[in-house]
Amino acid sequence: MTQDELDSKALEAIRESRVKLYIFKPSGRKMWIVVGKHGRYLVLPDAEYCTCNDFFFRVMSGEKPSCYHILAVKKAVKEETYSIVEREDTSYKKMLEDLLKEGDRTR
Ligand SMILES: [Zn+2]
Repeated sequence: MTQDELDSKALEAIRESRVKLYIFKPSGRKMWIVVGKHGRYLVLPDAEYCTCNDFFFRVMSGEKPSCYHILAVKKAVKEETYSIVEREDTSYKKMLEDLLKEGDRTR
């Protein structure tokens, strides 16, 4: 996948409101999620980390510079084009576990 293709997939995700910032209350803890075709992915934009297959197999091996989920979150932050979802702190751990499980299934 070329950089242009990555960029257009990132834009598409933003346009379809698939970039979400979960804010947990009352702690204010944040979690970035991109909803992809095969599942939801947890993205840590500052660490340039994503839980998708592409990241594990192609980004970590150096084949690709990034996956489009990371690009989508960065672009959404810059342009403030993400959706905000509020959750209770009590659901944080469960949500994280579910996301990591979803990652396992698609890997
Ligand atoms: Zn990804």
